[in-house]
Amino acid sequence: MATRTEFPTRPAALEPSALSNEEVLRYSRHLIMPEVGMDGQLKLKRAKVLCVGTGGLGASLGLYLAAAGVGHIGIVDFDVVDRTNLQRQILFSSADIGRRKTEAAADRLHGLNPDIQITAHETRLTSENALELLKSYDIIVDGTDNFPTRYLVNDACVLLNKPNVYGSIFRFEGQVSIFGYPQGPCYRCLYPEPPPPGLVPSCAEGGVLGVLPGIVGAIQAAEALKLIIGKGEPLVGRLLLFDALAMRFRELKLRKNPDCPACGVHPTVTRLIDYAEFCGVREQESPGSESSVPEITPLELKLRLDRGDDVFILDVREPHEYAICNLGGYLIPLGDLPRRASELDSSREIVAHCRSGKRSAEAAALLRKAGFGKVLNLKGGILAWSDEVDPSVPKY
Ligand SMILES: [Zn+2]
Repeated sequence: MATRTEFPTRPAALEPSALSNEEVLRYSRHLIMPEVGMDGQLKLKRAKVLCVGTGGLGASLGLYLAAAGVGHIGIVDFDVVDRTNLQRQILFSSADIGRRKTEAAADRLHGLNPDIQITAHETRLTSENALELLKSYDIIVDGTDNFPTRYLVNDACVLLNKPNVYGSIFRFEGQVSIFGYPQGPCYRCLYPEPPPPGLVPSCAEGGVLGVLPGIVGAIQAAEALKLIIGKGEPLVGRLLLFDALAMRFRELKLRKNPDCPACGVHPTVTRLIDYAEFCGVREQESPGSESSVPEITPLELKLRLDRGDDVFILDVREPHEYAICNLGGYLIPLGDLPRRASELDSSREIVAHCRSGKRSAEAAALLRKAGFGKVLNLKGGILAWSDEVDPSVPKY
């Protein structure tokens, strides 16, 4: 008990070089480990970590960083909590639906650990604000779910010389590594070019097992904590692959690419660029080809069906989506459409639909190319149908 008296009783905030008695109690399971100890806990207290994104990864890692006593945690997000988040984003409760994610997350993390500072950056991370935002943090943890932001975080970390604890998830599989570490590779060493837009589906399109971001985010948190206390072997130059379905971890060796445009010998990425353009996302978001497909709104379709018009409804989603809800349409998943188009009658008017209108726009374009003259895309898909025509149809 003699050591107790060494700690001042005044608030820890005034004395960043020591812990209060309450903090000693809170972190006792860290303090009794020689690898952490008082020295490591004070390093945690002085550390500044930025979590990019408060989705599934950000939820798990944010909670563990806060619980561990990381003194300053920044969170960046611009979204609001919606019901589909709650299956995996354990930072939020049902009562948070509709709230700003940064606000709900800050409340939750403060509730968990009132001794730490939480800075909520209610914004989208962009090429304009990233360097300014990242520069005051020691470690960046990337919990984003899209390629433009991932390349943006990578390049900003390389330019600022900050370690980037990367994690990504999809369905049952996750990846973790540390990029931007001195002498270590970066995300561009691994993936010099983004995949063609639309090739890699997002979690919103492909789904994700709820617990997966919890596991991957916890691994990211563990790596961030190790970096801070300076112990162990960081996940640098190694890509950890996790398959929850097989319950297996694998590891790939990653080498720093001397020709890497970001971190190579002669880098060409010397400032932040337009990442939406780099990833080809812009064309995807304001689709040239898709918008050229004639559309019908849910209300118009409803009126025409009620009038008894001969309209053939083609559902291009997957069978498991059809089981969630449907409009009684004929089901041909988009991927099967090229070889099954002959099942359709080209003389009839066809309205193609999917969940949001994106896949069905592709389907309609495909059918028009194949000679179907009267194909319309249902604008906004079954989601819009639920909003505008029939709220009893569940949204997913
Ligand atoms: Zn690199």
